[in-house]
Amino acid sequence: MKPLSIRNKIWLTITSVSVLTIILVVVVSYYLYQTLYIEKQTETLLKQGQALEQSYYENNPENFSKRLDWLDNSSDTSVIFTEDPMLLASGAPFDSFAEENLITFSERQDLLKGKTLTFTKYHTGLDQEISAVVIPLSVENRLKAVIFLYIPLTAIAEAFEPIRNFLLVGVVLVIFLLILVGTKMTNRIVQPIKQMEKVAKDIAQGDFSKRLLIKGEDEIASLARSINTMSSNLDEVDRNRREFLGNVSHELRTPISYLKGYSEGLEEGIIPIQKFAETVKKETDRMDRLVHDLLDLAQLEGDSYPMNKEPVILAELVKEVLERFRLTLDDKSLVTEVQLDDVVVVNGDYGRLDQVMENLLSNAIKFSSANRKIRILVKERKETGVLEIEDEGIGIPEEDIPYIFERFYRVEKARTRKSGGTGLGLSIVQQIINKHEGRIHVDSKRGKGTVVIVEIPLFDFQ
Ligand code: ADP
Repeated sequence: MKPLSIRNKIWLTITSVSVLTIILVVVVSYYLYQTLYIEKQTETLLKQGQALEQSYYENNPENFSKRLDWLDNSSDTSVIFTEDPMLLASGAPFDSFAEENLITFSERQDLLKGKTLTFTKYHTGLDQEISAVVIPLSVENRLKAVIFLYIPLTAIAEAFEPIRNFLLVGVVLVIFLLILVGTKMTNRIVQPIKQMEKVAKDIAQGDFSKRLLIKGEDEIASLARSINTMSSNLDEVDRNRREFLGNVSHELRTPISYLKGYSEGLEEGIIPIQKFAETVKKETDRMDRLVHDLLDLAQLEGDSYPMNKEPVILAELVKEVLERFRLTLDDKSLVTEVQLDDVVVVNGDYGRLDQVMENLLSNAIKFSSANRKIRILVKERKETGVLEIEDEGIGIPEEDIPYIFERFYRVEKARTRKSGGTGLGLSIVQQIINKHEGRIHVDSKRGKGTVVIVEIPLFDFQ
C-alpha cells in the first residue's frame, strides 16, 4: 500500500477529530434532551399530578374539577381524569383519540396496587411521543379513579429546536473553520517541505545557488534556515575549490610555459644552453616549492599531522633562524636589531614555529631594499610569548592587508613572482599559528614598512 502523504495524514487527523467532535456534540445533546429535559418534564408532571391527587382526597369535587380544567388549559400538560369503572377495569384508551390501550396489562396491575406510573410512549391518536404520569386514586384500597397527565414531546422538541439549530449552525461553522484551518495548516507545512525537497535535490545535483524563503520562527523555518546555511556553505566550499584549482593550474602553467618557450628557443638555437639550464633550474625549483607548499598546507588543514608541542625557548629559535639567513641578510646589506627576552618559553612545535619565523623573516628580507633595518623582538605579554618582525620595506596597501593570508594572494603579482614567492607562505603561517591557539596580526604602511606580530601561549610548567 502506498504510504500516506503528510497532506493526507493531516486531513485524516482533521476529519477524524471533526467526526469525533460531531458525534460527541450529538451524544451530549441527546443526553441533555433525553435524560435531563424529559426527566425534568416527568418530574413536573408528577408534581402536578400529586397536587391534583391531594386535591382529590380533600373531597371537594368542585375545587378539584376547577384545578383539572385550569391545568389542562393553562399549560402544555393535558389531563385526563376518569372514574369510569369500565375504563379502569379494561385499561381501554383513556383518551378517546387513541386507538390502542395506553396502559398495558401489567401497568394496570401496578395501578391496581396503587403504584404511580411514569413512561414515555408513542401515542397513535396524537401521532407523536408523549411523556406521561398516571396516578391511581384509591379509596379504602380500591381503585376509584385515575389521573392521567401527559405532555406531547413535540412541545419539548420545539423547545429544543433553537438549541438544535444553534448546534447545527455551530457544527457547520466548525466544519467550515476546520477546512479553512486545515487548508492553511497543510499549506504551511507541506509547501515548505516540498520546496525543501526541491532545493535538496538541486543541492544533490551540485546546484548550490537556490535558497529557501523563510517565514516565521517555528521548527520548519529553523530547518529551512539550516538548509540555506548548508547550501551557502557548500556554495562557498565549491567556489573555493574552483578558485583553488584555477590558482594551482595558473601557478603551474607559468613555469611550464617558460620551460616550453625556452626549450623551443634552444631547439631553434636562439637560446644558449647555459641560459636554458638556468631557467630550467629556476622554474623546476619554483614548481618544487609550489608543490611542497601545497602539500604542507593540505597537511596543516587536515588533522592527520598534529602539532608536536613542547617547551620552546623563542629567543633560541629566533637566533637559529637568523644564523641561517646571515648570508642572505649580508648580501642585501640589511641591518638587524634584535631584542630577545631569553625567559620566554612557549608551548609549541619547534619545527613548525621555525617555519613561521623563516617565512616571516624571508618576507621581510624579500620586500626590503638594501641597507634597511629589520627589527626582531621577543617578549612576554599576558600569558603569551610575543614575536615581532618589523621591516622598513615596501609595505602593504591598507586595502590588501585583510587578504594577505589567503592562498595565492600576492599584492603585486609580477614582482613577487620574480622574487620566487608562491603566495602560500602566510596561509601556512596562519594555519600553524591557529594550531597553536595563537594569533597573528599585521600592521603596515605603504612605502614605510611592515610589522608582523605573533602571539603564542606560554608553556605551562605546572
Ligand atoms: P609570498 O610567497 O608571495 O611571499 P606570502 O603569503 O608570504 O606569499 O605573502 C603574501 C603577500 O603579502 C606577498 O606576496 C606580499 O605582497 C605581501 N607581503 C607579505 N609580507 C610582506 C612584507 N613584509 N612586506 C610587504 N609585503 C608583504
